[in-house]
Amino acid sequence: MTSLTIARPDDWHLHLRDGAMMRAVLPWTARDFARAIIMPNLVPPVVTGDQAAAYRDRILSALPDGMDFDPLMTLYLTEDTDADDVTAAHQSGLVKAVKLYPAGATTNSASGVTNFDNIRPVLERMAEIGLPLCVHGEVTDHDIDIFDREAVFIDRVLDPIRRATPGLRVVMEHITTSNAVDYARAQDDSLGATITTHHLVINRNHILAGGIKPHYYCLPVAKREEHRLALRAAATSGEARFFLGTDSAPHTDANKLLPCGCAGCFTAPNTLPILAQVFEEESALDRLEAFTSRNGPKFYGLPINKGTVTLVKSAPTLPSHVDTDEGPVTVFDPGFDLMWSVQ
Ligand SMILES: [Zn+2]
Repeated sequence: MTSLTIARPDDWHLHLRDGAMMRAVLPWTARDFARAIIMPNLVPPVVTGDQAAAYRDRILSALPDGMDFDPLMTLYLTEDTDADDVTAAHQSGLVKAVKLYPAGATTNSASGVTNFDNIRPVLERMAEIGLPLCVHGEVTDHDIDIFDREAVFIDRVLDPIRRATPGLRVVMEHITTSNAVDYARAQDDSLGATITTHHLVINRNHILAGGIKPHYYCLPVAKREEHRLALRAAATSGEARFFLGTDSAPHTDANKLLPCGCAGCFTAPNTLPILAQVFEEESALDRLEAFTSRNGPKFYGLPINKGTVTLVKSAPTLPSHVDTDEGPVTVFDPGFDLMWSVQ
């Protein structure tokens, strides 16, 4: 196969940041994706409907002329979140999901949840109105090994929340383990799971073997090879519960290359070429569209995009860095030569 046309993709988990960084990275997503679920972990976080509306306006005014992109807004769930405000923001069409960060789990998550009992009324309301909960699924207890935090979260937090809140639609975001794949497969269609581009490509050796590679450090951290293979099998399976959420998370090189560097891989510019290659390697190019363009809208109850994207078999011309007014941001290096271009 040398050419593949698919419905225009969506990104169901994206960090756009704000200000100069947003202006620099937004065009790279808008070029290939029609919509994205926009993460609310700004400083301060996007907590209320009014804040989400203002952030959406800033995104749209940063969008270059002639580009077509629909930011799908989310609210950052805190122990003070007001169920009525969430309901109003959802019913106006503004907010498409609420994001749960366990406190301290990742970049700008200090306002996240510590006591899960305190968010029960909001979760019950979300179940009533059909508003999905997007979950950063890691415990943050210092006594839990970082490589086990996702699996422990499923047992200690996610499964109890789902049992206590029947009907709540939940997205397990950026899953990184076979445990998460198995859990997702055992649930009904009220549960979806996103998989990033980079977790299909790297395992923990890429980060740690032969010298530390800060640009491969992200959260949840990449796990053993057996988990990467489970993620590849899930992503390329065509199963409706699995869909793309890149978690593209730009940080300047200065903030990555520190004694305590930031977590995140910036994959917006080259996600589609990388995915085409991964799916081709798995003899699953015919299922790429399900993962990038069909399964996500189905879960969120949104239409599949009318536009299309054509991928052609030729080496793409893509930058290794994107320059921003805050400094350069390194584009994720998959470690192999890319063979597919977006036409
Ligand atoms: Zn994220």
